[in-house]
Amino acid sequence: MAVNTLRHEAKLKVYSRKPHKCSIPVNEQGKFLKVSQYYGENVFNYHLSKSLLAEDKENLKLVIEGKKTITKEIASKFANAVLEWSISKGVTHFCHWFQPLTGSTAEKHDAFLNFDNDRPVEYLSATMLMQGEPDASSFPHGGSRATFEARGYTSWDLTSPIFIKESANGKTLVIPTAFVSYHGDALDTKTPLLRSDLKINEAVKKFCQLIGMKDIEKVYTTCGAEQEYFLIDKALYYGRQDLVMTGRTLFGSLTSRNQQLEDHYFGMIEDRVLAFMQEVEIELHKMGIPAKTRHNEVAPGQFELAPIFKDANVAADSNQMIMTVLRNVALKHDFVCLLHEKPFAGINGSGKHLNWSMSTDSGINLLEPGHNPHENFRFLAVVATVVEAVHRHADVIRMGIASHGNDHRLGANEAPPSIMSVFLGDTLTKIFDSMVDGGNYTPGKSTAMDLGTNQLANLFKDNTDRNRTSPFAFTGNKFEFRACGSSASIGFPLSIVNAAVADIFNETNKLLESEIQSGKSSDDALIAVVMKWYKNARNTVFNGDGYSAEWVKEAAKRGLGNLRTTPEAIAVLKDDSKTKFLITNGVFSVSEIQTRHNVMLERYIKCRDIEFKTLKQMVQKQIVPVAIEYKSFLAESVKMQKDAGSDATIELELLKHLADVTKDLFMQMTVFDSMLNKYHEQLDEEKLATKIAMELMPHSVQIANLCNIIEELIPEDSWPVPKYYDMLFIR
Ligand code: ADP
Ligand code: MG
Repeated sequence: MAVNTLRHEAKLKVYSRKPHKCSIPVNEQGKFLKVSQYYGENVFNYHLSKSLLAEDKENLKLVIEGKKTITKEIASKFANAVLEWSISKGVTHFCHWFQPLTGSTAEKHDAFLNFDNDRPVEYLSATMLMQGEPDASSFPHGGSRATFEARGYTSWDLTSPIFIKESANGKTLVIPTAFVSYHGDALDTKTPLLRSDLKINEAVKKFCQLIGMKDIEKVYTTCGAEQEYFLIDKALYYGRQDLVMTGRTLFGSLTSRNQQLEDHYFGMIEDRVLAFMQEVEIELHKMGIPAKTRHNEVAPGQFELAPIFKDANVAADSNQMIMTVLRNVALKHDFVCLLHEKPFAGINGSGKHLNWSMSTDSGINLLEPGHNPHENFRFLAVVATVVEAVHRHADVIRMGIASHGNDHRLGANEAPPSIMSVFLGDTLTKIFDSMVDGGNYTPGKSTAMDLGTNQLANLFKDNTDRNRTSPFAFTGNKFEFRACGSSASIGFPLSIVNAAVADIFNETNKLLESEIQSGKSSDDALIAVVMKWYKNARNTVFNGDGYSAEWVKEAAKRGLGNLRTTPEAIAVLKDDSKTKFLITNGVFSVSEIQTRHNVMLERYIKCRDIEFKTLKQMVQKQIVPVAIEYKSFLAESVKMQKDAGSDATIELELLKHLADVTKDLFMQMTVFDSMLNKYHEQLDEEKLATKIAMELMPHSVQIANLCNIIEELIPEDSWPVPKYYDMLFIR
C-alpha cells in the first residue's frame, strides 16, 4: 500500500511549527506599552481631534445622540478631521464596511488619492464619508425589488466608531455603514438592529418614566458575545476539500479520546495557541474592541474569546471584526480558524453566547436586582416582561438563529435544543411562584422574603444557580442567549430579541398606565405586571436539563414549539400572525421579511448542495480509490499466502468486509445523487429544502458513517485526507 505523501508531509510540517512572534506595541525607547496606552489607538475619536472646534464637537455629539440631524457642513468638518487623522497614521484608503445578508461583511476600498488640477492630493469629502453605492444585485436580495433596481446605498452609521485596520503593507480606514436598497429596504443586518434598539428605547424609556425614573433620556440594549472557534493547522486544513469548501468535515472517524475526560475546558493553553491569542488581542485592542477572556473550550482544538459588553450595535460590529481578526491572525500562525458550528462530528460544536441586557443612559442595568423594594419590583417586572417576550415570540426567535450549520448543534446533545425555554434558576422561580400562587418565599431557612433592602441583590451575589443547557438563561444580571451559531452575524438575532422585548414592553406599559390611573402605587402596578406575564409565560420557564430526552417530551406536553431544522424554522417567516410584531414595531417591513425568507431558504439549499457535491467528490476521488487499492493489495496477499501454503484467513476477512462496505458506499452515493438530482428537478425551493433536511441529510450521515468504517480499515499511512487525530491533536 502506498503511503499518502501529501498527508505525511503536512504532518511533518506541523511537527516542526514554533509559536509565531508578532510585534508587541512599544514606546520610542523600546519599552512595552501597557494595554491601556495603546487601547483604541486605531479608533477615530473626534473629541481628541485638533482640527475640530469645541462647537463642532458639541454639534457632532448631538448628531450622534440623535438629537440633531446631520448637515453637509458638519459632515464636511468631520470628514476633514478623519482624513487628517488617517493621514497622520499612514492610512491610504477608506472603505464603507457593511453587513449584507451573506452573514459576513463586505467592503469596497477607495484611495484617498485625488487630483487638485494636476497635483496629487489626499481627499475625503462629506459625501464620500456618508454614502457609497455598491451594486445591490450582487448581494443576496431574495428577489426583492432591489434585483431590478441594482442600486443600493451604504450610509455611514454615526453610532459605531470609525477605525483603522492594519495589514502587512498598509492601513485602511473602515467606516461602518448600513446597506439599503434604492427603495429603502434594509439589505443588511445592521439597519433592523438599529431600528430595534430605537424601539427598545421608546418602549422601555416609557416604562421607566411610568414608574418614576424621570431623569432617563435613553434606554439601549447591551451585548457581550462570547465567540467559540476551532484552530487547526493550515497544512492539514488544505488537505481536506470538505473543510475548504464547506467549513466542516463531512466524515471522519472519531478518536478514542476526544472530550470525555473533560480535560480541555479551561486547560493550559499551548504556547502556539497562546501566541495566536495574544496577537489577536493586540489587534483587537488597538481597534478599540475590548477582548477580555480567553480559554480552552470543551472539545480538543476548541477555544473561546469574550469581549467586555457594549451597546448592541457596536457589539455586533465588533463581533464581525473579531471573526475577521481571528481568521486573519490564524493564518499568520499557520493555523486556520474554523468558525463553523460543527466542524467535527461527535465532539462539541461552536456557538456564540449573546449576553444581553438593557441599560439606561444613567448607567442602570435594568436586569440588575436593586437595593430597595421598589428597584426589586422593577427588576422582577423587567424579567417577567422578557420571559413573556420569549414565550410569545419563541418561534421567531428560533428562526433568528436558524442556519444549516446551527442545525447540527441545536438539540444534538451538546447545545441547547431548538425549544426556546427560559432558565430563571431556583431563586427567581420560587419568588415568581410565590407571588403568583400566594405564600412567602423563604430563602434557605431564614425569614420570609420581603424584597427588602439588599436582600434580592445579596441572594444573587452568591448564586451558583447556573444552567449550561438552556437556550435563554438568566445569569444574575443579564440573559444569556446561548443558541446562536458561531459563524452567524449576531445583528439578526439581536434585532429579533429586541423587537420581541419592545413589543411586550408596549403592553406592559399599557397595563402600568391603567393600574396607576386606577389609583395603584407604581410598586403595586409592577406586581400586576409580574403576575400577568409570569402566569401567562410560566410554561416557557424550565430549569432542568435542556439536553435530556425527557425535556423534549415535556416541552411537547407544555405545547412549546420545537423547530428542529432550518426549513421548519424559516417557514415561520411566512406566517403573518407570527411576524406581525416585527412589522408593527417597524423593525422589518413586509418585503424585508420576504427577502429574509428567500435569502435564508436559498442559502440553506446552496450550502447543503455544496456539502453534497463535495461529499460525492471525496467519495469518488479519494475514498473509493483508496479502498480499491487496499482491496487489490489484500487480494494479492491472499493469493501469495495461498501460493506459499500459508493461512490467509485475516486477509480474506478484511477483504470481504472492505468489499462489502465499499460496495455499499458506492451504491448509496449513487442513489443519493440521483435523489438529489430528482428533487432539484421536481420540487420548488421550499419542498426541496424540506426534503434535504428530512431525507437527504440523514442519508448523508449514513454515507459518512460508511466512510468512517472504511477509514478504520485502511492502513494508517495510506488514508488520503487528514484524520481527526491529525487535526485535533497535533500542534
Ligand atoms: P460567563 O460565566 O458566561 O463566562 P461572564 O461574566 O464572563 O460570564 O460574562 C460573559 C459575557 O457577558 C462578557 O462578554 C460580558 O461582558 C457580558 N456581560 C456582562 N454583563 C453584561 C450586560 N449587562 N449586558 C450584556 N452583556 C454583559
Ligand atoms: Mg457564558
